[in-house]
Amino acid sequence: MPNRRLLQDRLIHAIAGAERYSAKVAILFLDLDNFKKINDSMGHGLGDRFLKSVSERLNSIIRDSDTLARFGGDEFVVILEGSCKIDDLSSSCQRILEGFEEPIPVDEHVFFTSFSIGISVYPDDSKDPEELLRCADSAMYQAKAQGGSGYCFFTADLNSRTRERLLLETHLRKALERDQLRLHYQPQIDLFSGKMVGMEALMRWAHPEWGMISPGEFIPLAEETGMIVAFGEWALRTACKQGVDWQKKGHPAVRVSVNISARQFRHGKLVQTISEILRETGFEPGLLELEITESMVMDNVEEAILTMEKITSLGVNLAIDDFGTGYSSLQYLQRFPVRRLKIDRSFIQGSADDPHHAAITSAVIALSKTLDMKVVAEGVEMMKHLDFLLTRECDLGQGYLFAPPLPPEEISQALRDFEGNHEWKSRIEQVNNTR
Ligand SMILES: [Mg+2]
Repeated sequence: MPNRRLLQDRLIHAIAGAERYSAKVAILFLDLDNFKKINDSMGHGLGDRFLKSVSERLNSIIRDSDTLARFGGDEFVVILEGSCKIDDLSSSCQRILEGFEEPIPVDEHVFFTSFSIGISVYPDDSKDPEELLRCADSAMYQAKAQGGSGYCFFTADLNSRTRERLLLETHLRKALERDQLRLHYQPQIDLFSGKMVGMEALMRWAHPEWGMISPGEFIPLAEETGMIVAFGEWALRTACKQGVDWQKKGHPAVRVSVNISARQFRHGKLVQTISEILRETGFEPGLLELEITESMVMDNVEEAILTMEKITSLGVNLAIDDFGTGYSSLQYLQRFPVRRLKIDRSFIQGSADDPHHAAITSAVIALSKTLDMKVVAEGVEMMKHLDFLLTRECDLGQGYLFAPPLPPEEISQALRDFEGNHEWKSRIEQVNNTR
């Protein structure tokens, strides 16, 4: 398959031809929606074979007169010469999307995948080949932002979106040195005693002009650019300092959980960083918990187990976050030195009404009891979620029913507040009295 270099040659050639006959050329910029997940969880050898199968499938879908090229990573570009009417381009994209409704077999696995496609047209969007590729690329980001598995035409408006993203990145790079990052803490409630026993530290970006920015808006960008390693280290240090500070103020010792990103986990210095931060802050290791995800571990299981063992040998706890959403191996799960599983919020929120989600939640709770792990239910927002969890004897709950993520200065008040009367609290007491 032509590479990026050859693609540029073909594009220049196609544009020259189109110029001569006052014709048009369209570019489809394709990006796989879930390649990172597949690559992270299955390892790179399999990732490569998967990409090969994807290109073969693409080749079988497009017309012989079209040019297909690998642009890099999981990005492909198709050059379409001939009719570039909106309807024709739409049906070309539709054909590609439909062609990927069937899963891709690789070795003994099958993978479902889809594309986000961006479209630009010569000479309407630009006359310059490089610029045309950039236009199609920004349109692709737009398709991705709309949830993937779809296509988007380039419009002038996208230029400003691209600029916005660049602006965000530039500001984000300065967020740390300008002291704009914050941690908020969401309480975790013991569903047997009704007491607050832990908190998850969640990152926020307090921008002086744009206000408080939620992690969903900047964490993916921080991950893409690698800034997440420095952010993660900052979060770890800040949470430990905060924990010590609360104890000095006479608060009961409460566990603090900090999210670790994939990049941080694979970063060779993670264990060293943790032990330095613990020494530096004097925070009790047993009160620190790190949340990692299944996909981070499944990439290279043996190495991951080694890292996990080094972390727990410091006295620090580990939890698996968003459990149930990634590719897990139950065989490995029992080898992980993990104390807690956090069931993803989507299962909890569906549990009261959707029998499938209820079944998964129940199964995870039962599984964890066998493996001697505790379960934290995330996204507990309504009494019906709590009722369901109480009947299944789930250990811990976290969510807006109990408290939102709170700035550190509001935690004292929250601790006092939890002593008072709450509907959820009487329900927990009521159920536990009849057990
Ligand atoms: Mg988490």
